[in-house]
Amino acid sequence: MGENVLERDKGVAIIGGGPGGVGCALTLKSMARERGEDIRVVVFEGKRFGEHYNQCAGVLSHPLGEILKESFDLEIPQTMIQRVIQGYVLYGDRETIVLEEDPSKPSLAVQRVELDRFLLGEAEKRGVEVIHSRVTDVEFHSHEVVVYSWSGTCRASAVVGAFGLSKAMSACFSRRVGYVSPPHLETLVAKFYPPDSWLPGLLEDMIHVFLPPFPRTEFGALIPKGDHITVILAGWNITTNDMEAFLALPKVKNLLPPKGPSDFFKGRFPTGLAKRFHGHRYLLVGDASGLVRPFKGKGINTAVITGRWAAATLLDHGPSLEASHHYRELCRELMDDMTYGRVARTLASLTRRYSSLDPVIREAKRDESLKEALFYCVSGHAPFKKIMKNLGHPGTLGRLLPPLLSSLHLNRQ
Ligand SMILES: Cc1cc2nc3c(=O)[nH]c(=O)nc-3n(C[C@H](O)[C@H](O)[C@H](O)COP(=O)(O)OP(=O)(O)OC[C@H]3O[C@@H](n4cnc5c(N)ncnc54)[C@H](O)[C@@H]3O)c2cc1C
Repeated sequence: MGENVLERDKGVAIIGGGPGGVGCALTLKSMARERGEDIRVVVFEGKRFGEHYNQCAGVLSHPLGEILKESFDLEIPQTMIQRVIQGYVLYGDRETIVLEEDPSKPSLAVQRVELDRFLLGEAEKRGVEVIHSRVTDVEFHSHEVVVYSWSGTCRASAVVGAFGLSKAMSACFSRRVGYVSPPHLETLVAKFYPPDSWLPGLLEDMIHVFLPPFPRTEFGALIPKGDHITVILAGWNITTNDMEAFLALPKVKNLLPPKGPSDFFKGRFPTGLAKRFHGHRYLLVGDASGLVRPFKGKGINTAVITGRWAAATLLDHGPSLEASHHYRELCRELMDDMTYGRVARTLASLTRRYSSLDPVIREAKRDESLKEALFYCVSGHAPFKKIMKNLGHPGTLGRLLPPLLSSLHLNRQ
């Protein structure tokens, strides 16, 4: 068979059973079924969800529920939902602002491991072969790919890399196809278990967001979950010392129970595009592609969406290098928005380091378009292009710049 045809019986091997891999697997199965065909889909997942975890705060953003329902006829089980998030509280040095969610489009707090287990289980029920094994290498040939795992060898027509930021898989794709993994931030996560009396309306069901004034830290957040508060700190080369300094900030300490956590969990998330994320007989999706919003992630949504696009590309156009450009085109809007996202991140970073968020918050309390821009930044509900347009409005800029510049002056004295 030629390179332009995806052989249905050889099918597709997917490395990674997170939202990107499962989004791709379910789409391959459902699109093939709609066409009266079947296709072999094999998902390799190295973790046993429940014993092992994908690092995540477990906030499901709108419209993930709709995407799962419309695309796969899947409902997020009510029992999985631990809390409905009402909005965000953004902290400056002295000022705070409440940014409320649209009640018709709330974010839902869940245990990420339960989501992973649910999605992978549903894929299995729909005929996806799930192999609980780590992939160790991939070979590319003109007519097929060979995927090596701890459980043996799988020959497939194409491979989809949904392996997140796995260093081993990045090294493998880098050696085989010249892939360069996306730039990323490191995260530390800690969990606080407050007394039961705190649980109703924990943190007022709001996500509390901070831009701490530490050199290596980009942001910190407190997220109310079912019976605990998840604390995330993100930055470059951050250590437990940075987390301890963050937890010691009075405004953070005030929100947490006195007894601290003993465990910290380390993770990473991408902040830019990977190089060579598509090519001859392979497409990379989700975090592995770096196709995520570079500030507030919505990483789960984007992983499912890019997984769907990869599946549609393989079924409609085949596994060739030329066909993979269709995938790139589907990702175009996300890629274009990353440029605006980088500008927004740089502005936030400069404000954090050299000035203060206080003047911005004060102005946002008066200026609805600035408040909306802040809401979209922290909620991730709008493209960065729209956010930058709001911020770039001459009226907003004119009111924002003088207090920002004077705060810069004061901070330097
Ligand atoms: C601290 C933190 C908090 C976050 N909070 C949120 C949030 O609240 N909401 C949100 O939407 N996003 C959040 N994100 C981002 C989100 O977790 C990711 O964007 C999303 O999970 C990406 O999905 P994925 O399928 O691409 O990769 P992943 O979810 O990373 O899945 C990759 C899978 O591949 C498997 N794998 C890797 N290598 C191999 C191998 N060699 N063989 C077999 N299997 C392999 C892994 O075990 C894993 O299950 C957060 C990220 C971090 C780090």
